[in-house]
Amino acid sequence: MEKNFVINNFVNNQFIEPTQDNFLPIYNPATGETIGKVYQSSEHDVVNAVAVAQEAFNSWKNTSPTGRSKYLESIAQILESKLEEFAQLETINTGKPLWLTRRTDIPRAATNFRFFAHAATQFFSESHPIPGHAINFTLRQPIGTVGCISPWNLPLYLFTWKIAPALAAGNTVVAKPSEMTPLTAFKLGEVILESGLPPGVLNIIHGTGPDCGEAIVQHRVIKAISFTGSTAVGKRIAGICAQQLKKCSLELGGKNPHIIFNDVDLERAAQIAVEAAFTNQGQICLCGSRLLIQRDIYEAFKRIILGKVKNLKVGDPLLEENFLGALVSENHLRKIESYVNLAREEGGKVLCGGEKLIMQGRCKDGWFFPATLIENLTPNARCNHEEIFGPILTLLPFGNEEEAISIANLTDYGLAAVIQTNDLNRALRVSERLETGIVWVNTWMLRDLRTPFGGVKNSGLGREGGFEAMRFFTEAKNICIKYA
Ligand code: NAD
Repeated sequence: MEKNFVINNFVNNQFIEPTQDNFLPIYNPATGETIGKVYQSSEHDVVNAVAVAQEAFNSWKNTSPTGRSKYLESIAQILESKLEEFAQLETINTGKPLWLTRRTDIPRAATNFRFFAHAATQFFSESHPIPGHAINFTLRQPIGTVGCISPWNLPLYLFTWKIAPALAAGNTVVAKPSEMTPLTAFKLGEVILESGLPPGVLNIIHGTGPDCGEAIVQHRVIKAISFTGSTAVGKRIAGICAQQLKKCSLELGGKNPHIIFNDVDLERAAQIAVEAAFTNQGQICLCGSRLLIQRDIYEAFKRIILGKVKNLKVGDPLLEENFLGALVSENHLRKIESYVNLAREEGGKVLCGGEKLIMQGRCKDGWFFPATLIENLTPNARCNHEEIFGPILTLLPFGNEEEAISIANLTDYGLAAVIQTNDLNRALRVSERLETGIVWVNTWMLRDLRTPFGGVKNSGLGREGGFEAMRFFTEAKNICIKYA
């Protein structure tokens, strides 16, 4: 695999030669090596891309839903035909296991385009008749040029989750992936060219958040921002959008509770909890990072999950046997270490893991951390409140339903929760009272792209998915016609 990637902007269906020698290094987290460099766009680059996208909007908005749908379907098919190449790229740039990028990240990116190819043709609007007098109907029109900004943890998966509905609804897009993981977004430019999508409809800009990302948010011609990332940046973006009364959708951090009631099959429940906590090294906003276990099964459940977690293999992401690969960056590794130290200061007991791993061979300089279980922390401990976003799972006992709900709702976040129980009444009662946007019962990460996706409290504003996304990316206009 190539090691000297030079990541440039893709604007007006061309890879643009940088106007200045201003690049950031990009890394392979599994080896610690530099694998190339990414151009740091300036405000000037953003302004050019927005002008191109605005021009392209004039014809894209009038392209029929079927026409848009055909382009999106074609992008999906080309991505599928390049699955292996994209999976390899995603793995070398993120450190996540190749089995995961092959099975989830890249297939889902293709599915995002296909799903919204269908949505484009199925989207409809309402009418409100006043019998004998008039009829109202709602026109849902594309907004214009929109900005899509995404994070490093699921690079192509989340990038396309925004771009696809924006395009399906008839908008043109200026999109920015994370500067840490730009490889697959860069390669997407080649797919776009092959698909024949008209120039300027999708423009991919690279660079840092404060320079390039914020220039997109600030640009007055950009009519809406769809952002996924940290709560701190989300709040900043919301502030800028508020000043301009610009639409924004914010998918932010999480500190998700995973509740185990005493009536479950302990083996099966522990397996689900392990996958929910440690998939992608715990670097998924939806990961269950606080495990609430009913007190009368606490010790038995702890023994089972401890056995499973100790058996999780960590190492070279290219090897199928490893469930965990590398963390995304050295800085992120330090952050995880600092939280484990904090947990110890807060009185936590590390049951397994807890120290960074030094690998042999090609991964000797990579950034690896084992799956870690911590108990004895109070529900109020910082490690039970702040998003760690790594392979750290805390164990918390609870007595009854009421206590489980109150611990679950204790944090400022409210993205997702898992409830494991065989009591349907209890599952429904608890689901109703959890302060989250998503609840899974006896499963985790079972996604149906038609459903509303998003969080409450500090986890975000607005919903993605299905027609929710199509509505976000359109403006409703009511037309009232009176008849005699
Ligand atoms: P981040 O907020 O640091 O960066 C996200 C993106 O925003 C990047 O592209 C970055 O360059 C850009 N950015 C940074 N500052 C900006 C600014 N001032 N203006 C405009 N853009 C700016 O987040 P991250 O570290 O890349 O990602 C991890 C976070 O994302 C975690 O908090 C995680 O929970 C969250 N996340 C949430 C979801 C969800 O659906 N709710 C999904 C995945 C990740």
